Amino acid sequence: MEKQPLYEGKAKQIYATDKAEEVLVYYRDDATAFNGEKKGTILNKGILNNRISSFFFRLLTEQGIPNHFISMPSDREMLVKSLKILQVEVVVRNIAAGSLAKRIGWEEGRKLPAPVVELYYKNDELGDPLINHFHIQALRLATAEQVAAMEQSALKINDILTGYLKEKDIELIDFKLEFGLYQGQVILGDEISPDTCRFWDSKTGEKLDKDRFRRDLGKVEDAYKEVLHRLTGEVL
Ligand code: 5GP
Repeated sequence: MEKQPLYEGKAKQIYATDKAEEVLVYYRDDATAFNGEKKGTILNKGILNNRISSFFFRLLTEQGIPNHFISMPSDREMLVKSLKILQVEVVVRNIAAGSLAKRIGWEEGRKLPAPVVELYYKNDELGDPLINHFHIQALRLATAEQVAAMEQSALKINDILTGYLKEKDIELIDFKLEFGLYQGQVILGDEISPDTCRFWDSKTGEKLDKDRFRRDLGKVEDAYKEVLHRLTGEVL
Protein backbone atom coordinates (compact mmCIF):
# COMPACT_ATOMS: atom_id res chain seq x y z
CA MET A 1 0.00 0.00 0.00
CA GLU A 2 1.27 3.50 -0.91
CA LYS A 3 2.14 5.43 2.23
CA GLN A 4 0.28 8.70 2.66
CA PRO A 5 2.68 11.60 3.34
CA LEU A 6 1.46 13.94 6.07
CA TYR A 7 4.39 16.32 6.43
CA GLU A 8 7.82 16.88 4.92
CA GLY A 9 10.51 18.39 7.15
CA LYS A 10 14.09 19.36 6.34
CA ALA A 11 15.52 15.92 7.18
CA LYS A 12 12.49 13.73 7.89
CA GLN A 13 9.14 12.82 6.39
CA ILE A 14 6.01 11.84 8.28
CA TYR A 15 3.57 9.24 6.95
CA ALA A 16 0.15 8.16 8.13
CA THR A 17 -0.34 4.59 9.36
CA ASP A 18 -3.54 2.54 9.66
CA LYS A 19 -3.84 3.80 13.24
CA ALA A 20 -4.87 7.46 13.72
CA GLU A 21 -2.75 7.77 16.88
CA GLU A 22 0.49 6.53 15.26
CA VAL A 23 2.68 7.93 12.48
CA LEU A 24 5.79 6.72 10.69
CA VAL A 25 8.88 8.95 10.58
CA TYR A 26 11.27 8.41 7.64
CA TYR A 27 14.84 9.68 8.24
CA ARG A 28 16.56 11.05 5.09
CA ASP A 29 20.24 11.90 4.50
CA ASP A 30 19.52 15.60 3.86
CA ALA A 31 21.33 18.10 6.05
CA THR A 32 20.54 21.78 6.44
CA ALA A 33 21.99 24.51 8.61
CA PHE A 34 21.51 28.21 9.30
CA ASN A 35 17.75 28.00 8.90
CA GLY A 36 17.95 26.12 5.58
CA GLU A 37 20.52 28.47 3.96
CA LYS A 38 23.17 25.74 3.84
CA LYS A 39 22.09 22.47 2.24
CA GLY A 40 23.84 19.16 1.72
CA THR A 41 23.67 15.45 2.35
CA ILE A 42 25.52 13.30 4.84
CA LEU A 43 25.84 9.71 3.60
CA ASN A 44 23.74 7.35 5.75
CA LYS A 45 22.78 10.14 8.18
CA GLY A 46 19.16 8.96 8.08
CA ILE A 47 20.15 5.49 9.25
CA LEU A 48 22.61 6.80 11.85
CA ASN A 49 20.17 9.34 13.33
CA ASN A 50 17.31 6.85 13.37
CA ARG A 51 19.43 4.31 15.24
CA ILE A 52 20.94 6.89 17.63
CA SER A 53 17.54 8.50 18.36
CA SER A 54 15.90 5.11 18.88
CA PHE A 55 18.66 4.23 21.33
CA PHE A 56 18.14 7.44 23.32
CA PHE A 57 14.33 7.15 23.31
CA ARG A 58 14.57 3.57 24.64
CA LEU A 59 16.97 4.76 27.35
CA LEU A 60 14.60 7.59 28.33
CA THR A 61 11.61 5.24 28.35
CA GLU A 62 13.48 2.96 30.78
CA GLN A 63 14.12 6.03 32.95
CA GLY A 64 10.42 6.98 33.01
CA ILE A 65 10.50 9.93 30.59
CA PRO A 66 7.30 9.91 28.48
CA ASN A 67 8.17 10.12 24.77
CA HIS A 68 6.72 9.35 21.35
CA PHE A 69 8.91 6.33 20.46
CA ILE A 70 7.11 3.03 19.76
CA SER A 71 9.52 1.01 17.60
CA MET A 72 12.08 1.08 14.80
CA PRO A 73 10.55 -1.04 12.00
CA SER A 74 13.46 -0.44 9.61
CA ASP A 75 16.80 1.35 9.35
CA ARG A 76 15.26 4.63 8.22
CA GLU A 77 11.81 4.34 9.81
CA MET A 78 10.64 5.08 13.35
CA LEU A 79 7.08 4.36 14.46
CA VAL A 80 5.91 7.02 16.90
CA LYS A 81 2.83 8.32 18.67
CA SER A 82 1.19 11.13 16.70
CA LEU A 83 1.73 14.37 18.65
CA LYS A 84 0.43 17.89 18.26
CA ILE A 85 3.88 19.50 18.36
CA LEU A 86 4.13 22.62 20.54
CA GLN A 87 5.84 25.43 18.60
CA VAL A 88 8.52 25.86 21.26
CA GLU A 89 12.05 24.46 21.02
CA VAL A 90 13.65 23.71 24.37
CA VAL A 91 17.45 23.95 24.50
CA VAL A 92 19.48 22.76 27.49
CA ARG A 93 23.12 23.83 27.81
CA ASN A 94 25.90 22.60 30.10
CA ILE A 95 28.83 24.31 28.40
CA ALA A 96 28.79 27.58 26.46
CA ALA A 97 28.86 27.05 22.69
CA GLY A 98 27.13 28.21 19.52
CA SER A 99 24.57 30.99 19.84
CA LEU A 100 24.90 31.26 23.65
CA ALA A 101 28.66 31.79 23.46
CA LYS A 102 27.99 34.65 21.00
CA ARG A 103 25.07 36.13 22.97
CA ILE A 104 26.79 36.36 26.36
CA GLY A 105 30.36 36.81 25.12
CA TRP A 106 31.82 33.60 26.58
CA GLU A 107 34.42 31.51 24.79
CA GLU A 108 33.17 28.16 23.49
CA GLY A 109 33.94 25.39 25.95
CA ARG A 110 33.50 27.39 29.18
CA LYS A 111 31.44 25.39 31.66
CA LEU A 112 28.20 26.94 32.92
CA PRO A 113 27.81 26.83 36.73
CA ALA A 114 24.44 25.08 36.32
CA PRO A 115 22.45 23.88 33.29
CA VAL A 116 20.76 26.69 31.37
CA VAL A 117 17.35 26.10 29.77
CA GLU A 118 16.32 28.28 26.84
CA LEU A 119 13.09 28.53 24.87
CA TYR A 120 12.89 29.33 21.16
CA TYR A 121 9.89 30.06 18.94
CA LYS A 122 9.79 27.19 16.39
CA ASN A 123 9.20 29.34 13.32
CA ASP A 124 11.34 28.96 10.18
CA GLU A 125 10.26 32.31 8.69
CA LEU A 126 11.55 34.11 11.78
CA GLY A 127 14.66 31.91 12.15
CA ASP A 128 13.60 30.36 15.50
CA PRO A 129 14.08 33.42 17.77
CA LEU A 130 14.85 33.17 21.49
CA ILE A 131 11.69 33.85 23.54
CA ASN A 132 10.63 33.74 27.19
CA HIS A 133 7.55 32.68 29.20
CA PHE A 134 5.82 36.00 28.51
CA HIS A 135 6.15 35.62 24.73
CA ILE A 136 4.85 32.05 24.97
CA GLN A 137 1.73 33.25 26.79
CA ALA A 138 1.24 36.21 24.40
CA LEU A 139 1.57 33.95 21.35
CA ARG A 140 -0.52 31.19 23.03
CA LEU A 141 2.16 28.62 22.14
CA ALA A 142 1.67 26.63 25.36
CA THR A 143 0.12 27.06 28.81
CA ALA A 144 2.28 27.92 31.83
CA GLU A 145 1.82 24.32 33.07
CA GLN A 146 2.93 22.90 29.74
CA VAL A 147 6.05 25.10 29.76
CA ALA A 148 6.85 23.96 33.30
CA ALA A 149 6.40 20.32 32.24
CA MET A 150 8.74 20.79 29.26
CA GLU A 151 11.43 22.51 31.35
CA GLN A 152 11.27 19.87 34.09
CA SER A 153 11.44 17.02 31.62
CA ALA A 154 14.30 18.71 29.73
CA LEU A 155 16.40 18.99 32.89
CA LYS A 156 15.74 15.34 33.80
CA ILE A 157 16.70 14.29 30.28
CA ASN A 158 19.88 16.35 30.64
CA ASP A 159 20.79 14.47 33.83
CA ILE A 160 20.15 11.07 32.25
CA LEU A 161 21.99 11.78 28.99
CA THR A 162 24.92 13.63 30.56
CA GLY A 163 25.62 10.74 32.94
CA TYR A 164 25.21 8.09 30.28
CA LEU A 165 27.37 9.85 27.69
CA LYS A 166 30.15 10.60 30.16
CA GLU A 167 30.70 6.84 30.52
CA LYS A 168 31.17 6.71 26.75
CA ASP A 169 33.72 9.56 26.86
CA ILE A 170 31.27 11.99 25.31
CA GLU A 171 30.59 15.43 26.80
CA LEU A 172 27.01 16.64 26.29
CA ILE A 173 27.53 20.34 25.54
CA ASP A 174 23.93 21.26 24.65
CA PHE A 175 20.87 19.92 22.86
CA LYS A 176 17.45 20.85 21.50
CA LEU A 177 14.20 19.08 22.32
CA GLU A 178 10.67 19.31 20.95
CA PHE A 179 7.58 18.32 22.88
CA GLY A 180 3.98 17.71 21.84
CA LEU A 181 0.58 16.86 23.21
CA TYR A 182 -0.63 13.26 23.25
CA GLN A 183 -3.97 12.53 24.93
CA GLY A 184 -3.66 15.85 26.78
CA GLN A 185 -0.17 15.09 28.13
CA VAL A 186 3.09 16.85 27.26
CA ILE A 187 5.50 14.23 25.93
CA LEU A 188 8.88 14.31 24.21
CA GLY A 189 8.90 14.08 20.40
CA ASP A 190 11.22 14.74 17.43
CA GLU A 191 14.74 13.22 17.62
CA ILE A 192 17.87 13.16 19.77
CA SER A 193 20.90 12.82 17.52
CA PRO A 194 24.12 14.52 16.42
CA ASP A 195 21.83 16.81 14.37
CA THR A 196 20.21 18.18 17.52
CA CYS A 197 22.95 17.86 20.16
CA ARG A 198 26.53 19.01 20.57
CA PHE A 199 28.74 16.05 21.50
CA TRP A 200 32.44 16.58 22.21
CA ASP A 201 34.94 13.80 22.82
CA SER A 202 35.75 14.05 26.56
CA LYS A 203 39.45 13.41 26.07
CA THR A 204 40.32 15.23 22.83
CA GLY A 205 37.51 17.81 22.62
CA GLU A 206 36.86 16.66 19.05
CA LYS A 207 33.39 17.60 17.78
CA LEU A 208 31.16 14.58 17.09
CA ASP A 209 28.05 16.36 15.81
CA LYS A 210 26.47 18.56 13.15
CA ASP A 211 28.90 21.41 13.82
CA ARG A 212 31.27 19.42 11.57
CA PHE A 213 28.79 20.08 8.72
CA ARG A 214 27.85 23.63 9.81
CA ARG A 215 31.50 24.69 10.08
CA ASP A 216 32.95 22.60 7.20
CA LEU A 217 35.23 20.60 9.51
CA GLY A 218 35.10 17.44 7.38
CA LYS A 219 34.65 13.80 8.50
CA VAL A 220 30.98 14.46 9.22
CA GLU A 221 29.76 10.92 8.55
CA ASP A 222 32.63 9.45 10.60
CA ALA A 223 31.59 11.56 13.59
CA TYR A 224 27.97 10.31 13.45
CA LYS A 225 29.24 6.72 13.05
CA GLU A 226 31.51 7.16 16.05
CA VAL A 227 28.58 8.29 18.23
CA LEU A 228 26.51 5.25 17.17
CA HIS A 229 29.47 2.96 17.81
CA ARG A 230 30.15 4.34 21.29
CA LEU A 231 26.49 4.14 22.28
CA THR A 232 25.55 0.74 20.88
CA GLY A 233 28.75 -0.96 19.71
CA GLU A 234 27.25 -1.06 16.21
CA VAL A 235 29.46 -0.41 13.19
CA LEU A 236 27.83 1.03 10.06
P1 5GP B 1 22.58 27.01 19.17
O1 5GP B 1 21.48 27.90 19.73
O2 5GP B 1 23.86 27.19 19.92
O3 5GP B 1 22.71 27.19 17.69
O4 5GP B 1 22.10 25.51 19.36
C1 5GP B 1 22.02 24.92 20.64
C2 5GP B 1 21.79 23.43 20.52
O5 5GP B 1 20.48 23.17 20.05
C3 5GP B 1 22.73 22.73 19.54
O6 5GP B 1 23.00 21.43 20.05
C4 5GP B 1 21.92 22.62 18.26
O7 5GP B 1 22.27 21.46 17.53
C5 5GP B 1 20.50 22.52 18.79
N1 5GP B 1 19.53 23.25 17.96
C6 5GP B 1 19.01 24.48 18.19
N2 5GP B 1 18.13 24.83 17.23
C7 5GP B 1 18.10 23.81 16.37
C8 5GP B 1 17.36 23.56 15.16
O8 5GP B 1 16.54 24.36 14.71
N3 5GP B 1 17.62 22.38 14.54
C9 5GP B 1 18.52 21.48 15.03
N4 5GP B 1 18.72 20.34 14.33
N5 5GP B 1 19.18 21.66 16.16
C10 5GP B 1 18.99 22.81 16.83
